[in-house]
Amino acid sequence: MTQQTPASRSDRSPQLVLTYDRYLDNDALLAGLRTLQVARPDLLTLSELGRSTEDQPIWLATVGRGSAAEVQGRPAMWVDGNIHATEFTGAMAALHLVDLLLAEDRPDGAADQLLDQVTFYVVPRLNPDGAARAMAASPELLRSGTRPYPWDEPRLGLHAADIDGDGRILQMRVKDPAGDWQVSPQDPRLMVKRRAFDQGGSYYRVFAEGRFEGRYDGHLIHPAPALPGLDFNRNFPNGWRPEGEQGGAGDFPGSEPEIQAVLRFFAAHRTIFGALTLHTFSRALLRPFSDKADEQMDTTDLWLYEAIGRRGTDLTGYPAVSVFHHFKYHPKEVISGAFDDWAYCHLGVLAYTVELWDLPTAAGIAEKNEQKRFIEWFRDHPVTDDEQILAFVLQQAPEALVTWRPYQHPQLGAVEIGGWDGLYSWRNPPAQLLLAEIAPVSLLARDFATLAARLTWRDISATALGPRRHLLRVALENQGYLSTSGSVRGRLSGVARPVQLRLELPAGARLLSGQHLVDLGHIEGRSHRVGLTPGSSPTDNRRVVEWLVEAGAGDMAQITVNSDRGGALSGTVTFG
Ligand SMILES: [Zn+2]
Repeated sequence: MTQQTPASRSDRSPQLVLTYDRYLDNDALLAGLRTLQVARPDLLTLSELGRSTEDQPIWLATVGRGSAAEVQGRPAMWVDGNIHATEFTGAMAALHLVDLLLAEDRPDGAADQLLDQVTFYVVPRLNPDGAARAMAASPELLRSGTRPYPWDEPRLGLHAADIDGDGRILQMRVKDPAGDWQVSPQDPRLMVKRRAFDQGGSYYRVFAEGRFEGRYDGHLIHPAPALPGLDFNRNFPNGWRPEGEQGGAGDFPGSEPEIQAVLRFFAAHRTIFGALTLHTFSRALLRPFSDKADEQMDTTDLWLYEAIGRRGTDLTGYPAVSVFHHFKYHPKEVISGAFDDWAYCHLGVLAYTVELWDLPTAAGIAEKNEQKRFIEWFRDHPVTDDEQILAFVLQQAPEALVTWRPYQHPQLGAVEIGGWDGLYSWRNPPAQLLLAEIAPVSLLARDFATLAARLTWRDISATALGPRRHLLRVALENQGYLSTSGSVRGRLSGVARPVQLRLELPAGARLLSGQHLVDLGHIEGRSHRVGLTPGSSPTDNRRVVEWLVEAGAGDMAQITVNSDRGGALSGTVTFG
């Protein structure tokens, strides 16, 4: 699945501190972060991004070397996970990334390491409330937060729940000649779809294991949405639409404290140029737009997205696609209010939604993702795919498919419970397959970060022109791949500050020409030169500034460079 390119450096196999063979609840996740922090206090700071609806801390791991000011001044990558309650894999992948970044950093203090160039802001679990309920001894299936929404009243119908007390939410089935499912001839545990022309067999209705809210009349069973009906990833301001148009969107853009915490953090950290939000499942690298075609994206940014996506595909095997073109839940509907669209459209942050893990592709059904039938596959696929999945599960994680057994349901009467333990097969990888799934995504986050703009001095010197007369010259270069705006959208949005030079002279010295404060605008890296023709390699990633200064021998000038997504620099020149 994973093809490594030589530059990925993954062959170094750094020594990780933690193990990744089980899913961590909130306490264990915090313990893991603290263990990492104790291991490398020089690189890792833990703080609260904010508080959840239930007033639980949302932990933020800041990874970078140096003083707080140095770390905050660098271009930055954002990685979050588990915004959706049941998508624990995202939290584990984010934790793994922190572990990997620390492991790859050489404590000998060798210069020019990644954590000297870029800061990582990692929030493994953006939604501690939802994850706590989904991981409870009696788990709940909910989309995001735990606040009752859109109403307080429980909704009539069947609610997914662990009714037999075995700690899992499996499936229930009842025999029904009008049913949509039938037992697979390959294995009595596996239910497969009844097709259009299937007649005369033994058919079933299949429901989530659950509890019926309201009075069951002996006829009507409809699945009810969970009482907490929020979807945090519809609550971001970009293109936000109300409940009737976009389910789970919340009361208004940014209405939820978890999302407000993200919005405020980005407003205060304009250095962030790239972002990964870690979800499950599908094995896909999703990018904006969700609601419009690629033709409407700036072409340079589109090429940039594609270049990063190709690297991501090389590292993870996941196809990189636009949500609008390839990841619609319904062919005629678009989604809005998602993180990646907001981060790109409002802030020019190159953001991807990573959908980790996919049971069918893990089982070797390559056509699903090769033909980009991420969603459509579930609607329609050959029965041989089901058999292939079965064979894989029986070999790799037989506990994920449970033998059906009779159960006297308190409301529905005689049913059978069994089938998929969906939370740890379809929604998340079985724990024994977790590490293999998350490790390549950490490599993507790490490689993505190496694209950051990187301002460096080419020259900072003074030439004596006569008594107390000096020509002060600074040449600056962006040696990174990305522009100091991160993207064209970042420049147009005006969120990222352009590069500014500040010259400070000692008392007694005087500026004869030029300004103390020089606005250099944004400085390109190499990312805008995708269409470069042979023989042309312009130096548009450089700037030269000269001042005429009156100063005495031994006087020292201080020059500082500030930018958001290109980092900060400072240097001194002593006049001869
Ligand atoms: Zn998700």
